Amino acid sequence: MGAVAAEGTEAAIGNALRKFWGFEELRPLQEEAIRAGIEGRDSLVVMPTGGGKSLCYQLPPLVAGRTDVVVSPLIALMKDQVDSLRQNGYPAAALHSALDPESMREVELGMTEGRYRLVFAAPERLVAPRFLDWLGRAEIRNFAVDEAHCISHWGHDFRPEYRQLAELKERIPGISLHAFTATATVRVRDDILTQLRLRDPVELIGNFDRPNLVYRVLPRIDAASQTLEVLNRHRGEAAIVYCLSRRDTEDLAASLAARGVRAAHYHAGLDAESRRRTQDQFMAEEIDVVVATVAFGMGIDRSDVRCVIHTALPKSVEHYQQEAGRAGRDGLPAECVLLYSGADAMRLQSLIERSANEGKAAPEVRETSIKLLHQMRNYASSTRCRHAFLVEYFGQRYEKESCGTCDVCLDEVEGVEDGTVTAQKILSCIARTDERFGATHIADILAGAKTARIRQWNHDKLSTYGLLAELPRKSILNLVYQLVDQQLIDRSEGDRPILQLNGRSWEVMREERKVQLQQPRGADRVKRSRSDSESWEGVDRDLFESLRDLRRELATERGVPAYVIFGDATLRELARLKPTTLEDFAQVKGVGEKKLLDLGGGFVAHIQRYCEEHPEGSA
Ligand code: ADP
Ligand code: ZN
Repeated sequence: MGAVAAEGTEAAIGNALRKFWGFEELRPLQEEAIRAGIEGRDSLVVMPTGGGKSLCYQLPPLVAGRTDVVVSPLIALMKDQVDSLRQNGYPAAALHSALDPESMREVELGMTEGRYRLVFAAPERLVAPRFLDWLGRAEIRNFAVDEAHCISHWGHDFRPEYRQLAELKERIPGISLHAFTATATVRVRDDILTQLRLRDPVELIGNFDRPNLVYRVLPRIDAASQTLEVLNRHRGEAAIVYCLSRRDTEDLAASLAARGVRAAHYHAGLDAESRRRTQDQFMAEEIDVVVATVAFGMGIDRSDVRCVIHTALPKSVEHYQQEAGRAGRDGLPAECVLLYSGADAMRLQSLIERSANEGKAAPEVRETSIKLLHQMRNYASSTRCRHAFLVEYFGQRYEKESCGTCDVCLDEVEGVEDGTVTAQKILSCIARTDERFGATHIADILAGAKTARIRQWNHDKLSTYGLLAELPRKSILNLVYQLVDQQLIDRSEGDRPILQLNGRSWEVMREERKVQLQQPRGADRVKRSRSDSESWEGVDRDLFESLRDLRRELATERGVPAYVIFGDATLRELARLKPTTLEDFAQVKGVGEKKLLDLGGGFVAHIQRYCEEHPEGSA
């Protein structure tokens, strides 16, 4: 492309960006990705969740004046994107099995007439022979493959339908393919390249750090009360709580609801109707918190999730990055908390072993799963900067010395005052009971509990009975697991594992080895990260809340998710700048031409009224 043409392209990109999205500039890799799209050169774009992948396939057809097709795995995902684009005045449609024949014909007609810039389609629809012919006739030549890791069984979300996309290049010669994913491992990346048969592709790998996320890991003592404590920092804001079992999601959601949190549970065992309802309520801001198994998430595009809590250990760092990454997609500060007990790692490991022993998983799958799990455990039990850990895990360098946005760098992590002495008490309790008991019983003895088993074995006569009575039993149990995690105690395999001492245990007993143990921090120890306070600087909180109400009303009226009206970033900007003319309103980030026309009057009038009623402001 010549220099003049290139300059023309740059201007065209800028115009479209302002007109349809109200954004001023592109993020780092977006420009290259968009150029590949415009030029019809195959590409693979890997960016973390929230990195801004959608724009990379939404913008090229506008500039090139053509219709592109986006392959997307879920109907819900397509619908929300189409709603969102239409609110921006962007001509888009979706073709999926939930459409009635009438609407289907309408979309197909629109496509031949070139009425849309983007059409979303499910992979299986795309490769149906009739549709392929038809794409050829409609002169569609450029295809974006969203969530492209679904094509790889090395990824965490393999979908067989995606495999059929391998044929696309043969069926319609001369097309370009643009793959997008947030999964960064080399194996998945290579798989995408070969499966889709990308030719000389532009490969763009984004920065995997998410600086707006605050990461915390807390020793899990009591999931319900710890979850509530975290959620209290996010009253009225969107949050997702992940649990291991369906039962846990139901119990926890009920206990949160009883404490006044607008929460609902979600798992794959519910019927489609209730799942859909919960998703819709969450998108419409009718509930704030979804307590879910990992079945919840894909297709949830709510960008203002301010908090993601894991009450149990995920299976891998990839899973964690994906799930926690659903927080703060709008770029504003958000918090990711992992409640950790060493018992989780052991439970997951024995699940892996069992499925391997029963022949359900191949030996190499077993090896990989265990390796992935150990790395996740390392994340949870390490006291290194969490941002550095995650970025390096994905093969990138972390340049900053301290992130200022993790519990380690914020200096919140609280050690048990004399870790070594506490460890010695636990170890000697194991020694006194001849290394024949499990973690729960050992914790019971140290807590001075009055259980039948303790009486039966006369363990209330031991010198270690009640030795840690100042701590709650659950805290002691967590400490015991920390020692197992640090390999200062061995734990036998099998259904009723017992704790045993090893060489390192005796080093601790002989004072040859120091031990650090962590205790749960009180809510007062949690610090606000600087970026969190900065993101609220100058924002009139009351105005922000009233703008949220206005947004909710408009969204309900139009039957779209609330964030489709405006994201939180735009609402905060409005509550900071308080534009009272359409001209000023148009300057706000996130206000494009269509939204200016469509929503400007209502929002400006609302802000005017608010300013008259609150002449002092309340920032
Ligand atoms: P991904 O698909 O990579 O998870 P999205 O495409 O949903 O991320 O983008 C995440 C958020 O960032 C969205 O709210 C989007 O509007 C916003 N965004 C994307 N690109 C830009 C940009 N150039 N300037 C400002 N905001 C942007
Ligand atoms: Zn850090």
